[in-house]
Amino acid sequence: MFALLIILRAVFMWLITAVFFLFLTLLAIFFVHLFSLGRHLQLHRRRRQLHVSTPSYSSCGGRVSKEDLLGLPGFRFSKGSHQLDPGISECVICLDRIREGELCRILPGCTHVFHLECVDAWLVKATPACPICRARVICPG
Ligand SMILES: [Zn+2]
Ligand SMILES: [Zn+2]
Repeated sequence: MFALLIILRAVFMWLITAVFFLFLTLLAIFFVHLFSLGRHLQLHRRRRQLHVSTPSYSSCGGRVSKEDLLGLPGFRFSKGSHQLDPGISECVICLDRIREGELCRILPGCTHVFHLECVDAWLVKATPACPICRARVICPG
């Protein structure tokens, strides 16, 4: 009878200890989550601040839309045009010659010239940067 009491007490003590450690573990997990959540929020806030400080980038949303293209300067190619670099003879996107009278676009950031159709497709589908020098296309507005 006395031995049974001791065993019961031992089991009871063991249970209390187990529950205590379980509680401690849960507490630890809770704090780790709280910490990572705090860091995540901080990172998010920092990223948002970064976004605000670069409005010219966010106005494009990283992509050029068809409406943005309308704001880029286009012209009919003419070899005699004094504004153009006399070396311009080829569109690097389609690797074809730019012929007299063809519709072209000059990128406002770097003044590189391409066929209008070629560069429009490039900017919308590939990347909003110049295919030659990688200069970011300045978004109108
Ligand atoms: Zn072309
Ligand atoms: Zn360029």
